[in-house]
Amino acid sequence: MRKRILGSAALTLPVLVLMTVVFAYLAPAAERNLSGSPLASERAGAAKLNNPGKLRIIAFGAHPDDCEIKAGGVAAMWAAQGHHVKFVSTTNGDIGHWKEAGGPLAKRRTEEVQKAANIFGIETEVLDIHDGELMPTLENRKTIVRLIREWKADVVLSHRTNDYHPDHRYTGVLVQDAAFMVICPFICPDVPHLTTNPVFLYFSDRFEKPNPFEPDLVIAIDDVIEKKLDAMAVIESQFVEGGVSGHEGLIPKNEKERAAAHRRVRERFRSRFEATANKYRTKLIEAYGKRKGKQVRCAEAFEVCEYGRRPSAAELKKLFPTFGR
Ligand SMILES: [Zn+2]
Repeated sequence: MRKRILGSAALTLPVLVLMTVVFAYLAPAAERNLSGSPLASERAGAAKLNNPGKLRIIAFGAHPDDCEIKAGGVAAMWAAQGHHVKFVSTTNGDIGHWKEAGGPLAKRRTEEVQKAANIFGIETEVLDIHDGELMPTLENRKTIVRLIREWKADVVLSHRTNDYHPDHRYTGVLVQDAAFMVICPFICPDVPHLTTNPVFLYFSDRFEKPNPFEPDLVIAIDDVIEKKLDAMAVIESQFVEGGVSGHEGLIPKNEKERAAAHRRVRERFRSRFEATANKYRTKLIEAYGKRKGKQVRCAEAFEVCEYGRRPSAAELKKLFPTFGR
């Protein structure tokens, strides 16, 4: 009987599924997140096997809203084309409000980005690290290495390392430091290493010193802008209630006030993404041609990190299938 169970013929689908579930709960990843099930990466692995030719993208933001702001549009476009996208917040956001803090805020912000992920059609995970306390430690570097490997990423996105917030800077450092490590077999040998260094990209930012952001890719997000604005509006703790800079007067007292607040959030972000398109108009014209490049209203921009794989212009276009449409 025992022999039969262990025999290959007995490894039926239900048995394999059960084993996957058991191993997933035993894996270190199970302790690490507030959101998403610990099975997310397992599902992703299975999806890759069933979905050859599709890209796998992982983005790391410092707080539960950064990836959504910086890459929500392109994520929604990738997802709509069947590619696999995951957003990771490297902290739980538990000091990011003027009125609430701690566990309840972390939980609330995790729920907000889960709603945003549902809108984008992607996966999301929030690491249980205190907001404002992320450090570029070896332990955290290994966490990032494992996450990139588990996702089998082709593309990795994150902050640059000169940014106003220490969590943004250290997230950038940790992700940069994971580039190359992800292909070294004897670091974190518990998770199979990647055979190819992914392409690493930086989110856009407005910081000038020691060097300004210089986009290699500016992506028109007009096709998904309403979806992106929907996602911004569900992140209420930050964009309706003002995050750390808010006040009582911003909290909607009824549904009518909530709807008005959502409209304001949408318009504020629409202007912001329009400003990105206007700032990098020359790049948009280069990429999309004069006619379309001039017509683009909203955009997101990314810069290639030198420490990941250095893609040719042709490969960049393949990685961003929305590019040049
Ligand atoms: Zn942030």
